[in-house]
Amino acid sequence: MASDDVEDLIGSVRTAVEGVTGRWDRDYYREKTRTGDAPVEMYAAMAEQGLFALGVPEEHGGAGGGLVATAAAMEAMSEAGMPPLLFSLTSFARQAILHSGSSQQVTDHVVPSLTAERTFSFAMTEPEAGTNSFAMRTRADRQADGSYRVNGQKVFISGADQADHMLLVARTTPAESVERKADGISLFVLPRDTAGVSMDRMAIDWKAPEKQFSVWFDDVLLPPEALVGEEGKGVAAMFQSLNSERVVIAAWTLGLGTRAVAKAVAYARERAPWGAPIGSYQSVAHPLARAKAQLVAARLVTYEAARVFDAGGQAGDLSNVAKYLASEASYAAVDAALQAHGGSAFDEDSDIVTLWPMIRLLRIAPLNNEMVLNYIAEHILGLPRSY
Ligand SMILES: Cc1cc2nc3c(=O)[nH]c(=O)nc-3n(C[C@H](O)[C@H](O)[C@H](O)COP(=O)(O)OP(=O)(O)OC[C@H]3O[C@@H](n4cnc5c(N)ncnc54)[C@H](O)[C@@H]3O)c2cc1C
Repeated sequence: MASDDVEDLIGSVRTAVEGVTGRWDRDYYREKTRTGDAPVEMYAAMAEQGLFALGVPEEHGGAGGGLVATAAAMEAMSEAGMPPLLFSLTSFARQAILHSGSSQQVTDHVVPSLTAERTFSFAMTEPEAGTNSFAMRTRADRQADGSYRVNGQKVFISGADQADHMLLVARTTPAESVERKADGISLFVLPRDTAGVSMDRMAIDWKAPEKQFSVWFDDVLLPPEALVGEEGKGVAAMFQSLNSERVVIAAWTLGLGTRAVAKAVAYARERAPWGAPIGSYQSVAHPLARAKAQLVAARLVTYEAARVFDAGGQAGDLSNVAKYLASEASYAAVDAALQAHGGSAFDEDSDIVTLWPMIRLLRIAPLNNEMVLNYIAEHILGLPRSY
């Protein structure tokens, strides 16, 4: 896709997003965060505007637009102060189904997700394994009749209460019995209310309405149709999802960073404790200008990664670079905005400190930036791996 076409596509997605943010705004999102209620009206409006259909090819009833359109929706929603986590999780989970699932799974799971009738959480992280997800212990053992019996625990599972389905990553062969630790891992799609699945809310305060859960699987029986792709070969489908997730997360951070800079600029134009607006002091202006420059650069890489992904190219390198640059640039942008606001940054009503937990978190989750740098060191620089 030519760069003019990318900009046109981003522009049309932003217009559709305005149809949501014009009705449900940052005040609504913060109210839902305070009350703990799910932002169902926001997701319904996103579905009405066709945003859940983005990124799925027309042949499956989707609106097309690829990862560029999905990233554009995430960036614009985030810039409006309402990053839609369930949209991000659903877009990302269904990439794995589109990549490796059967046509029946596409019909059953991807098609209803186009209108948000079906949404997904993504269950990978475990208490012991953490970042080293190949060390996961959750087991899915094939039974004589072809079904799978699942036992184990996942943690930090976002939106597990809200999403009606879950994409689960589990070991079908123990780590000790495989040659490469990426082998023996499989993906399953299951309804949230499957017998034997239970969950407990974790006390995570990241200033978003979606909550995180510890999820237990106690002798959960899954039919053979729950398996996505080939048994033991789930990692390839997962990486298809993970590359797209990195780009969507990059777009999410860019939206928050852009929002923070815009708020700080408006404040620095008005605030004048010495008579002149503080924005005229270079010590206030330069961190904001530097943040702007870094956001512009990170944004170019993010949409280039999306464009390469959509063209079927090897998008791993650019996706990782985009996640790193965008999350760091946006973190610096929020930090500069905090400094420019002085003490009022910490007044919740100014809605600046409220951006901080999320932007800080996105340097750690879904993948910490140390692991992103590990990827760059190993795959782009060719350095040996230490872990
Ligand atoms: C709000 C929130 C939402 C989340 N949502 C989900 C979800 O929906 N689904 C899901 O599966 N998970 C989810 N997670 C989990 C998240 O992906 C993990 O927290 C993250 O991957 C890091 O794992 P960990 O917390 O176990 O950190 P650890 O693995 O304990 O790592 C701690 C730190 O050590 C460093 N580190 C670790 N390994 C290396 C290494 N090899 N090289 C260099 N440094 C390293 C990093 O700085 C890292 O931050 C969520 C977490 C949070 C807080």
